[in-house]
Amino acid sequence: MEKSTENNTNKDLFFKHLGQTSPEPVGLEIERSEGVRLFGPQEKSYIDLISGVGVSNIGHAHPKVVDAILEQSGAYSHIMVYGEFIQAPQVQYAELLASQLPESLQSVYFVNSGSEAVEAALKLAKRLTGRRELIGCKHAYHGSTHGALSLMGDESFKQSFRPLLPAVQQIRFNHVEDLSLITKATAAVLIEPVQAEAGVILPQAGYLEALQARCRQTGTLLIFDEVQTGFGRTGALFAFQKYGVIPDILCLAKALGGGMPLGALVTGADLMKAWQSDPALGHITTFGGHPICCAAGMAALKVILEQNLPEEAEEKGQWFKEYLANHNRILEMHGVGLLWACRLSSEEEAKNFVVKAAEEGIISDRFLFCGSAFRISPPLTINFQEIDEACMLIARALDCL
Ligand code: PMP
Repeated sequence: MEKSTENNTNKDLFFKHLGQTSPEPVGLEIERSEGVRLFGPQEKSYIDLISGVGVSNIGHAHPKVVDAILEQSGAYSHIMVYGEFIQAPQVQYAELLASQLPESLQSVYFVNSGSEAVEAALKLAKRLTGRRELIGCKHAYHGSTHGALSLMGDESFKQSFRPLLPAVQQIRFNHVEDLSLITKATAAVLIEPVQAEAGVILPQAGYLEALQARCRQTGTLLIFDEVQTGFGRTGALFAFQKYGVIPDILCLAKALGGGMPLGALVTGADLMKAWQSDPALGHITTFGGHPICCAAGMAALKVILEQNLPEEAEEKGQWFKEYLANHNRILEMHGVGLLWACRLSSEEEAKNFVVKAAEEGIISDRFLFCGSAFRISPPLTINFQEIDEACMLIARALDCL
């Protein structure tokens, strides 16, 4: 591949021409990928411990996904806006997803991203209930669009962009006493069943049940954002299955597309019907459910199911924990499946760790709302030998701090 123009390296061009999201991007250059590894210039190898943030659950450049993309792009790519033509990759993928979901979640509306799935869920909840109030959780991340941002649980991310959606309230995750804020005026509660960006906060026993009971009592729709927890990450195909509470609406993205951009809103056919009227075309998308993304996503989900990857995630996660939890730099490790937060003594230390880890050949990252922790969420296909190697490199990076 062409590395640079005459005088500029790709790194120069990255800073010159690409809009930046932070003053300190990771800035690693990657040339190719295979399984759990990414390769930079001169074949510098990295073990990917973040899966592109929750996307590459079956690893990188999986041959089944590559084949599906090639085959579908030879048949057709974009042919029509979402929802008008019958496109085999969409309907077949929706059927496969539905086969893994309960009876009340059998209708899939494809969009392009997690933020869009959340936007659609909030709109559908308003349309279905006729109510305007929405409730989210502190330390929740649901996307960067105006609606999703309105539900985000951290004022520092919101203040520069107000006015946002009115009538939004925040509850504290795992605080049953806050559930009284949910009333007959609440259209929906949007919540991650495991709070990912908060630093992997698990629901306490009985919390999600109590939340659902309050929602039922007040006629409020319960929306689970499983954009990050879906597709085996927590040791079940979906986290709600692990905790035994079925939401009214499920938001999916990230690993849904097998590495391609895809999001979805899943609910019951009776609820989904509301999009057809008052107004018709009240929620439309040009590229939602792109056939190549659906083909890729379906191929990836088949791999997840065939290889029982969700079941393996639990044991693999414990393997990481056993190796690392006693390291003197790690104050605390908490997580589930293959989604772990390792807390260090300060944000500064966690930042330094991410840099040192990259030097050692490990890709990690911090969390939006838990800056002192680093993340372990590798492709679910990682094997035990690769886990040992990753842990050895993590320990080496920690020893350099
Ligand atoms: N919800 C959760 C829980 C997420 O982690 C993310 C992305 N990090 C989103 C929603 C937004 O997804 P996207 O970036 O695809 O819009």
